[in-house]
Amino acid sequence: MKGKIAIIGAGITGLTLAQFLKSTFDVRLYEKSWRPGGRMSTRHSDEFQFDHGTQYFTIRGAEFRNFLHKALLDGIIRPWDARFMAFDGGNPLKYKERQEVVYVGTPSMNSLCQYLARDLEVRCDADVQTCRYGAQGWFVNVANGIEEGPFDLLISTIPAPQNHDLFTTETTLREGLASVQMRGCSTLMLGFHDPVDIDWEGAIVSNSPVGWIGLDSSKPARPGNTSLVVQSTGDWGDKLLNAETSQIEDLLLEELKKISGIDGWAASHRSLHRWRYAGTSKVAGQKYFLDPVSKLAFCGDWCIKGRVEAAFMSAEALATALLK
Ligand SMILES: Cc1cc2nc3c(=O)[nH]c(=O)nc-3n(C[C@H](O)[C@H](O)[C@H](O)COP(=O)(O)OP(=O)(O)OC[C@H]3O[C@@H](n4cnc5c(N)ncnc54)[C@H](O)[C@@H]3O)c2cc1C
Repeated sequence: MKGKIAIIGAGITGLTLAQFLKSTFDVRLYEKSWRPGGRMSTRHSDEFQFDHGTQYFTIRGAEFRNFLHKALLDGIIRPWDARFMAFDGGNPLKYKERQEVVYVGTPSMNSLCQYLARDLEVRCDADVQTCRYGAQGWFVNVANGIEEGPFDLLISTIPAPQNHDLFTTETTLREGLASVQMRGCSTLMLGFHDPVDIDWEGAIVSNSPVGWIGLDSSKPARPGNTSLVVQSTGDWGDKLLNAETSQIEDLLLEELKKISGIDGWAASHRSLHRWRYAGTSKVAGQKYFLDPVSKLAFCGDWCIKGRVEAAFMSAEALATALLK
């Protein structure tokens, strides 16, 4: 009989793990959101579409390239031929020559996670509230009060500080989590009926509350209307976490105007998303955490670097160890 594994979180880490482990184990994923994707998410409004988390990702390692080979062939991910501009505060510096190809999910960032989830058992709207390890194995308790299990192994792929809150008694692994520091991010989404007057698709900004501006609608296979994403830096993301929505919007809109000349107040659509845990300023420094005694493991981007490929690497390393 196959061993049973429960994975908490259906972002790129959880889905990668499940893809590697599915033929050897019975794998079930628990995802608190209504669909897989996590920080590789996409927001839809009536007329506009926004990747409000991950903007693009790179493929540097051979393992990640192999893993994504079919998704690339199937057109689920495609290169984004964007012109990037560097700004220092409000001042344009220069076009920033991209050294490598950058990729996006198509027709939305979320498409990759949907694709990876298609042949997996994913329980959505399943917010794991508590986990219990008993003589038979692990049991997870989802928000609707139902306890499921037993599982031979439990793997959590949620951000480190959330693991710290969920697993209050597993002291061996908790020590490793305590040093990890994650940053917030405010994402402002703006939709326009007309094109905006800029001659670049992405702006990397320094010395400003804004860290990134992206012309989302210039990514491949996006719907026609102009959509723009403005993201705060991690520092400002933390500072603004509890601020009024209008205060955050005004700050980002003023910076947008200063940097690009775009009048975001005139946008037809305006919405804001606050990420409590977006990037990682202090990583765990090891690829994954595995306690063979308590049959518990943690992994995710925060182990290595706050990047999509790092999330993959963490999951791949843990899967390799488990398959051995
Ligand atoms: C604003 C922003 C911009 C970014 N830009 C880039 C970029 O340009 N390039 C890049 O490479 N990376 C970028 N990243 C980082 C990238 O998104 C992450 O590295 C990657 O998506 C992490 O994937 P993950 O699976 O480890 O975590 P997540 O995607 O966070 O997945 C964890 C999942 O667990 C679920 N979950 C949490 N708690 C529970 C619970 N109790 N029960 C059940 N499910 C739970 C969550 O809903 C989530 O789906 C960005 C991130 C953000 C937020």
